[in-house]
Amino acid sequence: MLWIKNVIANLIFLILYFSVMTGLKIYIVSRYEKSVEKEKEATKLNTFLIRSIFLVNLIFGVAGSIFIIVLNSDKFTFSRHFYLFIIYFIEIFIISIFFATSIQAKILNQKLKNAFFLRQIVSGFLGLVLMVGIIFLPIVQISRTGDIKYLYFLSVAIFVGNYLFYLVIFNLQYPKRKLKENEGKIIKDTLKKFEIESIEVEVLDTLGQKFANLFAAGLFKQKLLVTSYALENLKEEEIKAAVVHEIGHIKAKHGRKILFGWFVAILYYLSFVFGLESIANYFVSNCEFYNFIQIVVFLVGTIQFLFLPSFISRTAEIEADLFVLKSGIKREEYESALKTLYAINYIKGDISNALEKVQSHPSLKNRIKILAEAENKLEREYEHKLNKICNNLTAACALFATVYLIFGVILS
Ligand SMILES: [Zn+2]
Repeated sequence: MLWIKNVIANLIFLILYFSVMTGLKIYIVSRYEKSVEKEKEATKLNTFLIRSIFLVNLIFGVAGSIFIIVLNSDKFTFSRHFYLFIIYFIEIFIISIFFATSIQAKILNQKLKNAFFLRQIVSGFLGLVLMVGIIFLPIVQISRTGDIKYLYFLSVAIFVGNYLFYLVIFNLQYPKRKLKENEGKIIKDTLKKFEIESIEVEVLDTLGQKFANLFAAGLFKQKLLVTSYALENLKEEEIKAAVVHEIGHIKAKHGRKILFGWFVAILYYLSFVFGLESIANYFVSNCEFYNFIQIVVFLVGTIQFLFLPSFISRTAEIEADLFVLKSGIKREEYESALKTLYAINYIKGDISNALEKVQSHPSLKNRIKILAEAENKLEREYEHKLNKICNNLTAACALFATVYLIFGVILS
């Protein structure tokens, strides 16, 4: 009976996942209790916790997917596999929220409201259904046609699915409200100073989560979002510095530019893999190494695609940081605001360079370094860098698209 096999496999999977998370909890809490400088250790351990959960979830997500595919290999049905994936992912998601919040309650002294859990589970469920649905499209095509070429779309599907997952979570996780008359005066004053006081400001209620941040949101009707925890815990000059950074994003229309940059990165990736594949297909399609070449092309393309979107986001971040300096805020002042922001969010400021390459934001250490350089008139290097990246990507895209046109269409 296949369903009994599936139930047992899922139980084993759950027990394994639960054990790993319990081990993680015991390790982190005991390190926190033994530490002398509690605040410093909390920051270190929180960063460690977030990364560990990401890594464990990734490993278990892949392992669970393999479990499902192997167990149900005799017959691929869209609905059966789809539901099984959703069940596995939702289980991992709920258990990891449970562990993360119970560990953070201990080390960050953070008490979350019940609404936080409810919202996270509902938004997580919707986000996961959307993500798995999108990732499923190329997988279904591979299993239906047996054509390995559809593997090329998997990277794009994972990227888009992951982005939409976070978009759903971010939009549904926190209740929004308008800024009240008597609060955030420094925000209104700063917006006025830059002549964009008409922009809408909304407060995100973090429901007890220690999450201090500001965001420039919206593609066409831009608005400024600020979390309730930031409003309550940042000093006026810190809020001001952070608002000016966001104004930097708004004035440069980064929301639209980043999305466009990602779109170009996707086109570049697709033209790269299909361009090279068409050359291989033209010259060596009869060769036994052909499938191997296809996989290598896929890997090389995917590795580039892994770094490109985050490189684009980080460039926009640096542009916004430099805007703060140009607007007249002293470097020392901005640095101290950044340090406070990282500290009250319990985020470590110095991370490894390798890890930074896949993050949307540069590390505090690098931001401070770049700010110091900018003050020494090196900023010209960063001027219009975002446009340059997009132009170069477009040129490379055109090149590979031409290759595809010649070898994949005309000569084939
Ligand atoms: Zn930013």
